[in-house]
Amino acid sequence: LYLKALEIQGFKSFPDKTVLSFDEDITAIVGPNGSGKSNISDAIRWVMGEQSTKALRGGKMEDVIFGGTQRRKQLGYAEVSLILDNSGHVFDLEESEVMVTRRYYRSGESEYYINRRSVRLKDVNELFMDTGLGREGYSIIGQGKIDEILSVKSADRREVFEEAAGISRFRHRKEESERKLERTEENLVRITDKIDELE
Ligand code: ATP
Repeated sequence: LYLKALEIQGFKSFPDKTVLSFDEDITAIVGPNGSGKSNISDAIRWVMGEQSTKALRGGKMEDVIFGGTQRRKQLGYAEVSLILDNSGHVFDLEESEVMVTRRYYRSGESEYYINRRSVRLKDVNELFMDTGLGREGYSIIGQGKIDEILSVKSADRREVFEEAAGISRFRHRKEESERKLERTEENLVRITDKIDELE
């Protein structure tokens, strides 16, 4: 899996469109304190569907939008695109490149795109599932993450291995089906009650 480029616009400290291209070798991002290095990893986390504002080091989702400086007005939306190589077809798409885009407006509206096609958050989550990327992935190791993996309950630790083994997708589908089954059973009880009332 190879991350080719990241495009950031209006996200945190990046008001202007900024394109970061990555080589297949190691890329190191250096800069003084507070210059925006961590905002780049936040942008990667965010475009992959992160919903936790805490994980994004903010209080509310609006905090990801460029909030203005003394010299510049705040912006109305944030947009991040992640471009990944798909020549090995790790992702279930025909194209040899995958571009995932997330846009968020101050009004609270969210938009997600895969290769410029409008999709739901669920589709983005499913795209990354079992690739090691995404919300439950282990490809972004932030400060304290290793300690967290070692100290959590064994069931939580198992999730990391499930993702690596490529079976997260099935656990999610099972959980989704169980929820549907539960709702159907509740509806069935309700219908039975109604029938009893009518009889
Ligand atoms: P350190 O080396 O100290 O960890 P860093 O280079 O990782 O620093 P970041 O934490 O990525 O720095 O960037 C912090 C900067 O981003 C701060 O100057 C902060 O004001 C700015 N910033 C964060 N959110 C926004 C926003 N919504 N609008 C404008 N600037 C923002």
